[in-house]
Amino acid sequence: MKFALIAHDGKKADMVSFVLKRLDFFNQENIDVIATGTTGKMLVDAGVTKVQRVASGPMGGDAEIGAMITRGEISALIFFRDPLDKHPHDVDISMLLRLCDVHNIPLATNKNSGNMLVYYFRHNPR
Ligand code: PGA
Repeated sequence: MKFALIAHDGKKADMVSFVLKRLDFFNQENIDVIATGTTGKMLVDAGVTKVQRVASGPMGGDAEIGAMITRGEISALIFFRDPLDKHPHDVDISMLLRLCDVHNIPLATNKNSGNMLVYYFRHNPR
């Protein structure tokens, strides 16, 4: 299973604490993690052992993860968006969310839905 994790700047601290609380899950043998550049660095610093990093979001990282979704390589996306901030790469964000719907990829955009998503995959390993 490959999880994509992305957090906007205003949500990065939330992402780190979210992952730290579930480190046993994200460090499982059968779980791969891919993340945009800065989010990925923070996940590594937080103790996630296997993180594949793509470009930073504003530099095309969202688009890279979108391409992976298109190729069927992503099991789920946890994307802590900051709804109270502006983002220069809004079009990439919309594209990524759209591709999740096109390809029926589970998507969580906040802590509670992320928790439910992890809970599901924890109890229904692929
Ligand atoms: P980042 O990208 O993890 O490189 O900051 C996320 C984003 O802001 O879209």
